[in-house]
Amino acid sequence: MFAKVKKIIDNGQDFFITTHIDPDGDAIGSVFSLYWALKSLGKNATVYLKDKVPYRYEFLPGPDRISNAIPDKNYDAVFVLDCGDFPRIGDGYEDLKKTKMIVSIDHHNTNDGFGRINVLDADASSTGEILYRLYKYLGVSLSYEMAVNIYTAIVTDTGSFRYENTGSRAFLICEKMVRLGVKPAEVSRMVHGNHPKERFLLLGQVLCTLRTFDEDRVAIAYITEEMFEKTHSTSEYSDGFAELIREVRGTEVAILLRQVNDRRYKISMRSKGTVDVADICCLFGGGGHKNAAGCHIDGTLEEVQTKLMEAMKR
Ligand code: 5GP
Ligand code: MN
Repeated sequence: MFAKVKKIIDNGQDFFITTHIDPDGDAIGSVFSLYWALKSLGKNATVYLKDKVPYRYEFLPGPDRISNAIPDKNYDAVFVLDCGDFPRIGDGYEDLKKTKMIVSIDHHNTNDGFGRINVLDADASSTGEILYRLYKYLGVSLSYEMAVNIYTAIVTDTGSFRYENTGSRAFLICEKMVRLGVKPAEVSRMVHGNHPKERFLLLGQVLCTLRTFDEDRVAIAYITEEMFEKTHSTSEYSDGFAELIREVRGTEVAILLRQVNDRRYKISMRSKGTVDVADICCLFGGGGHKNAAGCHIDGTLEEVQTKLMEAMKR
């Protein structure tokens, strides 16, 4: 598949790069690293993000301008990174279909193969890892700008080398990135030690809702719109809460329900070990990985919880 991607890059000049809504470190790091790689090959690259860069990742070097409207233009290829299905790019994604060459590079095992070309590897720790291999294949020499983006992609998607997707390849690549000048403590400070205090006020409220079921095997907490208002927070501030709830002893599945409106919740599921939460989220039209997945469910808090519990029993 790398050969096909190389041909597209060699033969084209104008490229478009994007990722999923609510972008995480792998999404942003992947998009920015590809931007620098294409620039270094003398190509034009437009980066499009539906949502703004989360505050944690504002330190990452990227393009001077990130477009938040899809330009009415044909590109030689559209790169969709770390995104399991096309609509997850966000509203307006259909306009991108004008460009026939859609290249999906991703590591979600629920990826539905929406690209014309699909570079998929569910065994990769992150999309950043797949891209690192692509850059080697393309013969791109890695700059610091690329290195810090790749490093951040891998570190965030492996939960700082704590999750099941952490293997020797993740360490090997990160070791190389450190040799290229990346400072792990600096990245950690920006990503994990630079939160607005409102995040902690919100966390306090969310933790008060924590309940466990099935002898602590399932842990559930929720966030209401009212909590966001009261603590002057946005959904960006709740990133990572689901992982925290998974830390409860004995918990195999952690669920965070975030209210989107009166009758809709965003679900974040996390698991330890063999429980496959992507399977459960797929039942509701979502997706993700075995140990981290998400979806949206319509209903009141009680209805959504009931739907989830029933799905899990199955
Ligand atoms: P989170 O719960 O942090 O939003 O997402 C956890 C994982 O599941 C991430 O890998 C994310 O990309 C994926 N994910 C979350 N929501 C959805 C969804 O609605 N559809 C798909 N396909 N993947 C999702
Ligand atoms: Mn990822």
